[in-house]
Amino acid sequence: MKNILDNTREQLASWLVEHNEKPYKANQLFSWLYKRREFDFEAMSDLSKATKQLLSEHFELNLLNLVDKQTSSDGTVKYLFKTFDGLLLETVLMTHDYGYSICVTSQIGCNMGCTFCASGILKKQRDLTSGEIVAQLLYAQKDLDKSEKRISHIVVMGIGEPFDNYDNVMDFVSIVNDDFGLGIGARHITISTCGIVEGIERFSDEQTQVNLAISLHGPNDKLRSQLMPINNRYPLSELMASLRYYLSKNNRRLTFEYILIQGVNDQIEHADELADLIRDMNAYVNLIPYNPVDEKGYKKSSKSAQMAFYDRLKKRKIQCTLRKEQGSDIDAACGQLRAKKMKGQDYAN
Ligand code: SAH
Repeated sequence: MKNILDNTREQLASWLVEHNEKPYKANQLFSWLYKRREFDFEAMSDLSKATKQLLSEHFELNLLNLVDKQTSSDGTVKYLFKTFDGLLLETVLMTHDYGYSICVTSQIGCNMGCTFCASGILKKQRDLTSGEIVAQLLYAQKDLDKSEKRISHIVVMGIGEPFDNYDNVMDFVSIVNDDFGLGIGARHITISTCGIVEGIERFSDEQTQVNLAISLHGPNDKLRSQLMPINNRYPLSELMASLRYYLSKNNRRLTFEYILIQGVNDQIEHADELADLIRDMNAYVNLIPYNPVDEKGYKKSSKSAQMAFYDRLKKRKIQCTLRKEQGSDIDAACGQLRAKKMKGQDYAN
């Protein structure tokens, strides 16, 4: 049976029409599922008995099963979930002065093979469906409902490459953005890609308000290919051309993510190369101190190197921030909790 959470409101409306029902019932359903967070068809009191029966004959409501939950001293919460077919995935909920943001996973494992990242230690097993991405948010929101708090921002920056699962990720965006449901503004949603050019082009043509972030990490092809094998397929010239295309079609600000790894990409000349590369793009750089992963052997840049890099970008008139680390007392680096669990290691609560 299909998971009802996999459907956008439009998809549900056409399904209803195909089954001789009125399309507006999709609006009611959305409101039950995402506004009231009622997951039992029987309890949806403004739907007729026949409609409820039709829905329960064709759909199941598949939420995720919680396996573990860790709470950091700074309020960051990490959920470890199991899918219906027994696969593990992670979701991180973060508190900020502006509210709550959630970092969702888009695939089980990842095939991009970035050399510094824990996610790729386990190859991709499958894509998550749109409903499985939605369910991560619903679960965390249900948790927050107890204290009447609301998730206001979403980053698709968990395990997986969103543009390697394009349709499901975009359906997820449509579902959570929908005003009949959660109504999370597109400007509050960010998709982060390692740089799959076809995906960037498709996304550019959608002309949505959803933010686009690019994991850059290396300011030249040699260094970037060393860190991110995807750069062999889409070298910087092609990546930058696709981003210029994005900017020509969308009046939006691009974000570049740049992790700072000691002695690898954190020298002043790298900051200069980065500034040259993105100079005329009115972009924003998010500098992220590397979160060490046992197996990888890379180290976090020293505080002084981080500051020197930041200062150089500022001096070069590049807008940037140095990300504050969150959840460092729990296994909050991408894929760490899942990787540990899968290796059967002990993990602290
Ligand atoms: N595949 C997408 C989204 C998932 S990774 C992408 O590449 O953008 C989300 C971000 O976390 C990326 O910028 C990634 O490079 C970064 N990242 C991965 N491992 C990290 C680590 N150990 N420390 C800091 N950032 C890391």
